[in-house]
Amino acid sequence: MIHDFLVIGGGISGASVAYELAHAGSVLLLEAESSPGYHSTGRSAALYTRNYGGPVVRQINILSASFFDAPPEGFCDGPLLTPRGSLTVASPETVDQLRPLLALSEPGEEVIAISPAEALERVPYLRPERVAAAIFEPNVSDIDVAGLHHGYLKGIKRLGGIVSTGQGVVELTRENGIWHASTHRDTWRAKTVVNAAGAWADEVGIMAGAQPIGLVPKRRTGMIVDAPAGLDLARSPSVDFVESGAYIKPEAGKLMASPGDATPTSPQDVRPEELDLAYLAHWVETETLIAVRRIEHSWAGLRSFVPDEAPVVGFDTRVPDFLWLAGQGGYGIMMAPALAKFAADLVLGASDPGRISASGLDTVALSPARLL
Ligand SMILES: Cc1cc2nc3c(=O)[nH]c(=O)nc-3n(C[C@H](O)[C@H](O)[C@H](O)COP(=O)(O)OP(=O)(O)OC[C@H]3O[C@@H](n4cnc5c(N)ncnc54)[C@H](O)[C@@H]3O)c2cc1C
Repeated sequence: MIHDFLVIGGGISGASVAYELAHAGSVLLLEAESSPGYHSTGRSAALYTRNYGGPVVRQINILSASFFDAPPEGFCDGPLLTPRGSLTVASPETVDQLRPLLALSEPGEEVIAISPAEALERVPYLRPERVAAAIFEPNVSDIDVAGLHHGYLKGIKRLGGIVSTGQGVVELTRENGIWHASTHRDTWRAKTVVNAAGAWADEVGIMAGAQPIGLVPKRRTGMIVDAPAGLDLARSPSVDFVESGAYIKPEAGKLMASPGDATPTSPQDVRPEELDLAYLAHWVETETLIAVRRIEHSWAGLRSFVPDEAPVVGFDTRVPDFLWLAGQGGYGIMMAPALAKFAADLVLGASDPGRISASGLDTVALSPARLL
């Protein structure tokens, strides 16, 4: 069988675009791991923040809101977003760094300056002497990442698509206008390939004969610790520390902390470094009133960027019928609904440019051609 669309990678990017494409043709999604959420998608902080990232990313985040707020009938069992709120605090030395964040405030996407006293009331584990100024974003939410990801994967199958795991693509060739994708188990055929391979997108691009987009995977570390006794986790916002880029947020009855690290690395099943964890535990104890008695769980994940830190969505300039959907950085979950629709519009709209302009996104700002 020749599939209309082959999507390589079953993380949130691959699953979401495969779901959109399955409405229009036969879809095959190939994922190397036995679990599609094994890499970045299963390792995120699960936050939806309209004001996060550069202007292109923020536009995509906002466009995703309608899907999060009203997913298709039967897509998931509960709400995809749960209000969380986000506090950003500045130490006496870094108060000025809050100004650009305040400037992002817009009706409906408010960023509000609050007093240090109110910040401490909202988050009692902060050290009073380290909070000289603070801002609050009420519109930040927790994303049910598993619900979103499973909704897409379930939807692909319901629409007649195929999701096949344990199928790492090792060879891609194109003969007479048809792609042949080989894994160690099978060879598959398709008319169009979507490269949604996360940190491995450049490797897959090279396999297809395309020029790499210069993707750099960056390691970020997370750990789970006990919350201080009596903390109301349901009402506790996430906290960004503007001085260091570190953050702390409630996570399944505990607290997640990350130093906000971004260490360039190669695509791999990345693990946390002992030194990063030791630094993080020390930082939590010195910058907050949380006592780290034990690290319950720790992990690292990859956030993959091209130099301008906007995602890369568009057909390759040299290799026909090969679409890039890569470079989602630290925003791939929150951007997924809008980015998947945009990518599917590009694939389906090759003969109907009206479909593409309807999304409101700039094809040039997202195209792989901008990076050449
Ligand atoms: C610590 C951390 C915190 C984050 N916090 C947030 C957040 O709060 N909000 C947010 O929106 N984003 C966040 N992110 C970013 C988000 O997790 C990523 O942008 C997103 O998961 C990327 O999804 P993806 O599908 O592109 O990549 P992945 O989930 O990595 O999926 C790519 C898949 O492709 C597969 N693959 C690779 N090569 C092949 C091949 N040859 N054949 C078949 N399959 C292949 C891989 O096995 C992998 O499963 C965070 C990331 C980290 C690490």
